[in-house]
Amino acid sequence: MDFGSMKIRKFRSLSFKLTLWYIVILGGIIVLAGIFQYQSFKDSLLDELDAKLLEIADETYETWSSKRGMSWEEALQETTGKFQSYRPLIQLVKLQEKERKKIEEVIHTTSIKEGSFLFDLRTYYRADRSDIDNLIFLIHSEEELGAYPLRTILFPVRGPNIVQVGISLENTELDLRRLMIIMVLAGAGLMLLASLGGNFIIRKALKPVKSVVQTAKDITADDLSLRIEAGQRQDEIGELVDTFNDMISRLEKSVKKIKQFSGDVSHELRTPLTIIRGEIEVLLRKERSSDEYQKTLKSTLEESAYLERIIDDLLFLSRIEALEKKEFDKSVQLDEILLKVVESQELTAKKKNITLDIKMAEPTEIKGEEILLERMVTNIIDNAIRYSQPGGKVEVSLDKKEGIPFLRIQDTGIGIPEESLPSIFDRFYVVDKSRFKETGGLGLGLSIVKQVADGHGAKIEVESELNKGTSFLVRFPDVK
Ligand code: ADP
Repeated sequence: MDFGSMKIRKFRSLSFKLTLWYIVILGGIIVLAGIFQYQSFKDSLLDELDAKLLEIADETYETWSSKRGMSWEEALQETTGKFQSYRPLIQLVKLQEKERKKIEEVIHTTSIKEGSFLFDLRTYYRADRSDIDNLIFLIHSEEELGAYPLRTILFPVRGPNIVQVGISLENTELDLRRLMIIMVLAGAGLMLLASLGGNFIIRKALKPVKSVVQTAKDITADDLSLRIEAGQRQDEIGELVDTFNDMISRLEKSVKKIKQFSGDVSHELRTPLTIIRGEIEVLLRKERSSDEYQKTLKSTLEESAYLERIIDDLLFLSRIEALEKKEFDKSVQLDEILLKVVESQELTAKKKNITLDIKMAEPTEIKGEEILLERMVTNIIDNAIRYSQPGGKVEVSLDKKEGIPFLRIQDTGIGIPEESLPSIFDRFYVVDKSRFKETGGLGLGLSIVKQVADGHGAKIEVESELNKGTSFLVRFPDVK
C-alpha cells in the first residue's frame, strides 16, 4: 500500500478541507470575540480605577477642608490610610500664587520617596481641564514606584493647588493577564472540541459519497445491476444517489439494447449467409443442369440483395446517430419533399392497385435535413402500400395546427395488433415473421423513421385497427 499517496489524498479530501475551513472560521470568530471581551473587561477595570482615583482625590480635599487647622500632610496620610487596599500615592502640588506656571512646593505621602512621584505641570496646563477624564494620565515612572505603570489623576482644588493621586496598575494588569490565560485555554479547548465534533459531523455527512464512489468503482459494463442504497435521505446526497442510480439504470438499459442489437444483427446476417452457403454446397455436390445452376444463382442473388439491404439500413441508422445537431437545422420545404416521395411511390402503388392520394394546404417550411426526411416519409408510405391489400387507399396529408406542422399517412391496410404497437419502432421487429417473404420487411424501416423523427425533435403517434387500417401522425416541433 502506498502510504505517501494515501496521506496526500487525505489532505486533499473534502472532509479535510471542510474541517479546515470550519476551524479557520470558528478560530476567527473566537479570536474576535476574545479581543472584544478582553477590551471591554479592560475598559471596565480602568473605569473603576478612574472612579477610585477621583474619589480619593476628592476625599483628600474634603478631609483637608472639613477640619480647620488640619495640615495637608495629615490630610494626605489620613486618606492614604482610608484607601489602604489600593495603596494610593497622593501628593499635593502647590503652585506659586502669582505665577501659576511654577511649582512652589510638593507635599506627599510617606509612601513616596523624595522626588520620585513625578508631576509635569505642562501636561496639566495642556489638558482640557473642563473634563476630569482629561486629567487622568499614565505614568511610567522610575523603579522606585515598582515595575508597573501608574495611573494618576490631577485634581485641581481651591487655591492654585492640585491634588495628584496615583494607583499602580499592578492589580489591573495581573487581572488582565489571568483573563488572557483563561481565554486562551478556553478558546483552544473550544477549538479542539469543535474541530473534532465538526470533523465527525462532516465525515458522517460525506459517508454516502464514499459509498457512491465505491459502488461506481464496482460497476462494470458487464455488471450494471448494482445500485447505491439511498435510504430515506431527502437531502442533496439523496438527490445525488438517486441521479446516479437513474443514470446507471439508463446505462443498463442502453447496454442491454446494444447487446440485444448486436445479437440480432449477427442473427439477421447469418440467416441469409447460411442459406447462400447451403444452396451452393448442395449445388456443388454433383454435376447440375444449367436450369438448376440458374435457379440457385437467382436464389443466392436474392439473398445477397437482402443482405445488402440490411447492411445499407444499418449503415444509414449509424450515420443518423453520428450526425451533429446543426445538420438538422437547415430550412427545408416539407410539402416539396412529400410531393417528391409520393411521385416516386406512385408506380409501386399503381402496380398493387392502391390509390395514393396527397392533400396539402400550403407550403410548409421546417428546420431539418432533406435526405433524412425523404427517407422517413418514404419508409412510412412504403409500409402503408406494402401492408395494404389491392384496392386499398393510402392518403398523405400535411396540415398545420396552431402553426405547428403535422403530417398524416393513413392507409386501409391490414393494421397492427395492439400488443405489437409499442415494439414496431424497435430494430428488427416485424409483426409477422412468417409473412416476411411476401412483404420483404427487415424490421428496420420504422427504426429509421423513429431515429429521423428524434433527430428533428418530432413526435410520432400511431393509431391502428386490425383489418381496417393504420395512421401515422408526425408532429414537428414549433419552429418559432
Ligand atoms: P418492415 O421492414 O418489416 O416493414 P418496419 O420497421 O418498417 O419493418 O415495420 C415494423 C413492423 O410494423 C412491420 O413488420 C409491420 O408488421 C408493422 N407495420 C408497419 N407499418 C405498417 C402499416 N402501415 N400497416 C400495418 N403494419 C405495419
